[in-house]
Amino acid sequence: VPGIEEARIALTATKRGRTVVAVGSGKGGVGKSTLAANLAVALARLGQKVGLIDADIYGPSQPRLFGATQRAEAKDKQLIPVEAYGVKLLSVGQLVAEGTALAWRGPMASGALNQLIDADWGDAELIVVDLPPGTGDVQLSLIQKARPAAAVIVSTPQDLSLIDAARAIDLFEKTHVPIAGVIENMAGYDCPHCGQPSDPFGHGGAEAEAKRLGVAFLGRLPLSASLREASDAGNPPAAGEGPAAAAFADLARKLLV
Ligand code: ADP
Repeated sequence: VPGIEEARIALTATKRGRTVVAVGSGKGGVGKSTLAANLAVALARLGQKVGLIDADIYGPSQPRLFGATQRAEAKDKQLIPVEAYGVKLLSVGQLVAEGTALAWRGPMASGALNQLIDADWGDAELIVVDLPPGTGDVQLSLIQKARPAAAVIVSTPQDLSLIDAARAIDLFEKTHVPIAGVIENMAGYDCPHCGQPSDPFGHGGAEAEAKRLGVAFLGRLPLSASLREASDAGNPPAAGEGPAAAAFADLARKLLV
């Protein structure tokens, strides 16, 4: 599969410095931030020294997902990431009070991103970046500044999400960022009442789209009430035990092979 070998080689080449993995999506609300958080935790559990940049300027979710909503401190004008669940975390959300709207135009947003990238990452070798959805200014500055070694694309199985996921893949390809693969989220749901499986967002769409575009398919995660509840409570499921933690560990391992 074009892209995947390159991505894997890049991910193992951490000796040359920090390796950046961008997590993107075409649409919002598909679980990109949830996936970025839990991949970061799973990678840390596999022994990687992991940092996480929440670059989702207009909807920073990472402080919530990690239960780390305190403001970021700075030393000598350099931001210091907060440690949570074995991950060093920095978010645009830690620069302003929670619930505050960031009415930033492109240059200000890019300035804030630069501060996050140039923060005191210490011994972190692998930096996961939670990008905003879509293909705009912030994604472009981040790609230019951080030069990701690989990109992971998150999509639900439905057509509306897949069309935009294809656009996100196109942006990475145009900017020469290897695509590590596509993850299908919210794929299937087991009814808690009757036990029957159903597919609110369809089935297999992301895998088929990955195949069509010639990029790797990394795996799927079901729609899960317990995953949502743990995430809302600031307990990344990847840090626990059980099926969600195992699924995230599997996905993380695929990035490291
Ligand atoms: P995005 O970053 O793409 O906007 P989020 O990660 O913020 O999406 O997820 C949007 C919402 O969906 C959140 O409330 C999150 O907890 C929930 N969610 C994400 N993935 C799942 C899943 N597999 N099962 C249930 N809820 C999920």
